[in-house]
Amino acid sequence: MFEENAQEIFLLKLGEVVLKGLNRRSFEDKLVSNVCRRVRRCGSFNVYLRQSTIYVEPQNAQCNMAEALTACRQVFGVVSVAKAVPCAKDVTAIADTAARYLKDEFAAAKTFKVESKRADKLFRLNSIQISQQVGGILAERFPDVAVDVHKPDLTVYVEVREKAAYVHAPAAPGAGGLPIGMGGRAVSLLSGGIDSPVSSWMMARRGVELEMVHFVSPPYTSQQALDKVLELARLLTAWCGRMTVHVIPFTRIQEEIRKNCPEEYFTLIMRRFMMRLAQTVAKSVHAGALVTGESLGQVASQTMLSLGVTENVTDLPVLRPLIGMDKVEIIRLSREIGTFETSILPYEDCCTVFTPRHPCTRPRLEDVQAAEAALDVQALMDEAMAGRTRVRVKP
Ligand code: ATP
Ligand code: MG
Repeated sequence: MFEENAQEIFLLKLGEVVLKGLNRRSFEDKLVSNVCRRVRRCGSFNVYLRQSTIYVEPQNAQCNMAEALTACRQVFGVVSVAKAVPCAKDVTAIADTAARYLKDEFAAAKTFKVESKRADKLFRLNSIQISQQVGGILAERFPDVAVDVHKPDLTVYVEVREKAAYVHAPAAPGAGGLPIGMGGRAVSLLSGGIDSPVSSWMMARRGVELEMVHFVSPPYTSQQALDKVLELARLLTAWCGRMTVHVIPFTRIQEEIRKNCPEEYFTLIMRRFMMRLAQTVAKSVHAGALVTGESLGQVASQTMLSLGVTENVTDLPVLRPLIGMDKVEIIRLSREIGTFETSILPYEDCCTVFTPRHPCTRPRLEDVQAAEAALDVQALMDEAMAGRTRVRVKP
């Protein structure tokens, strides 16, 4: 039933999903469909779930396994991905398969052990017996590699499951978190900076499906600046899947604020407009929250009082996953998720045009509201929304 060179497959372990009690079914279904969608562009795969493990099996030799492995590791809700080969449920077959599949690993190792799991409780040996017997055969096969159950160079994993036994080498870590779609939908304010791609990624990892909003201020901001943001969104699609970026013109609003409001409140009033517009987008796409890359104390507009004044214009929860993080930690994450190099390309963001010399760090809501009264807020909003364009971004 199993040929000499049985196809390599992937076994995906689920994370928190396993703990979700009654919701477990819908979490698992969501995760399977997310994995399915993500590996589709790497070839034809059969994806299914058995006993809290997702199996990803290539259907033909044209499948790009390296790409599919990367894709699986970027699906939120997956804690680890192991390459494995199936074989018959019999200790000799398992040992033969391990010897063949892991021959390079055995050549490089001085010590090894076998670690077994028996998911099929009807199998006649328990996990310790499987390890002992398979280990015994392998020890004979590789006399130069000694058994060491404490600190082996190589651990051979064996799983005896429903359909077959599987042999695999150590698993690679997955993205963790919860499957996208299980955490609701939110609108994320995406700038070209380092922070907001990371905040978007963090909320997506909690299962939140994102729509992006980006504000542009031509001619103060360039086409390259917008392209950079779209590229950041594209980089995020590797983790989040396809998404929409709502591009909203912001020039008129900024010019009107500069003309009519005290300079010290410029940034705060501008940020209040961003929140209002993002909320309008959120309502139009049935999103339940806003996401920003704000971090407490990072700049004048991110003091506690400033954040309070900023979010006062929206009744949606404002999620700020970076709020308690240091910049070095944010940068480390940004490198890990692959957005850093693009984020540091030097293009103007609308936030960096017209910045006040002395921004207010201890604003009072009434003062900001009074300053804002010089503007026709609704008319400016309507004009900005009328100029909105939507860009679909795909992996
Ligand atoms: P980032 O590094 O993400 O640009 P920042 O530390 O530079 O953030 P600000 O420029 O004050 O901080 O912006 C704070 C947050 O406001 C950003 O993280 C982002 O969520 C949002 N934001 C700023 N500029 C824009 C923009 N042009 N379009 C959409 N959202 C923006
Ligand atoms: Mg910025």
